[in-house]
Amino acid sequence: MSRSIDLAVIPGDGIGQEVVAQGLKVLSAVLPQDVKLETRKYDLGARRWHATGETLPDAELESLKGHDAILLGAIGDPSVPSGVLERGLLLKLRFAFDHFINLRPSKLFPNTASPLAGRPDIDFVVVREGTEGPYVGNGGSLRTGTPAEVATEVSLNTAYGVERVVRDAYERAQARPRKKLTLVHKNNVLVHAGHLWKRIFDAVGQEYPEVTTDYLHVDAATIFFVTQPERFDVIVTDNLFGDILTDLAAAVTGGIGLAASGNINPTGEFPSMFEPVHGSAPDIAGQGKADPTATVLSVALLLRHLGYAEEAARIEEAVAADLAERDGTPRTTDAIGDALAARVSG
Ligand code: ATP
Ligand code: MG
Repeated sequence: MSRSIDLAVIPGDGIGQEVVAQGLKVLSAVLPQDVKLETRKYDLGARRWHATGETLPDAELESLKGHDAILLGAIGDPSVPSGVLERGLLLKLRFAFDHFINLRPSKLFPNTASPLAGRPDIDFVVVREGTEGPYVGNGGSLRTGTPAEVATEVSLNTAYGVERVVRDAYERAQARPRKKLTLVHKNNVLVHAGHLWKRIFDAVGQEYPEVTTDYLHVDAATIFFVTQPERFDVIVTDNLFGDILTDLAAAVTGGIGLAASGNINPTGEFPSMFEPVHGSAPDIAGQGKADPTATVLSVALLLRHLGYAEEAARIEEAVAADLAERDGTPRTTDAIGDALAARVSG
């Protein structure tokens, strides 16, 4: 295990700046003395785009490549035309670093405001495919803007791409106590892509006899996320279904202030990137109101990815303890960060 962490930090826009500061505070507090932490900040996002017109210059992309991992706050601002930063920065990074796993754990901590509060333990993880599906930008529009317009958005699914995400999901299921993996798709209607996913899911499953498997259509899955969330352990699904399901999962497990995610390249060829699921929240930016917990939990995912499982677990325990003591009294972003840093170092 490496005893140094070379971290790229992209605080980004709005509350991204505020929550990343807390994430770094907790990271410094949790690491043992002998682990050397180096961080380098990258000024990317809406401010940079307004100032220079740049989203992600090649030199910075190249430089990012050299780090062990990336911590991202949030990118985006209503003043930037939709798509500019998404395609020019976020998706560019995801494709350049081949982040084919989008990992979104969903856990209902005790004493969390949730429509499902008081339900049995909810603790599942969604493994969303990150580089294929309808997100590849394959399509077009004919007779644009006329009443006869025709637009297509082609969903790309390759055996290579599906197999590597399915295999990663089996590995994650195998490593968890319940060892259960659910494939979510819509193969009764999306027969071409859906059958490819199901065939590969079944074939790879032969290599994981200990893992119990299940298949659900995505519409049924949305119902079970709310009515029987405890039935899930690991879920594997395509890019678009995963996008929608993970927002639903965040909503039922305590909201966007708690949801963490990782954009992962498990091969280690490129750095993986960890970030809270929420956006830049311009409505509360600069007011110290943002909850940094999602970012702190993203730091835990980052640590586990780099082999610091014990430190990751300490962060998750600190978060659980902090949430358990919340009584509705508002606390600042900084105060929550301080409390979590104190807990992990204590
Ligand atoms: P984006 O397009 O970047 O996803 P968005 O407006 O869709 O932005 P968010 O920025 O995630 O979504 O904000 C959605 C709502 O949740 C806003 O009202 C925001 O204030 C709130 N919110 C988001 N993150 C947090 C947080 N960490 N703590 C508290 N409230 C938050
Ligand atoms: Mg959003």
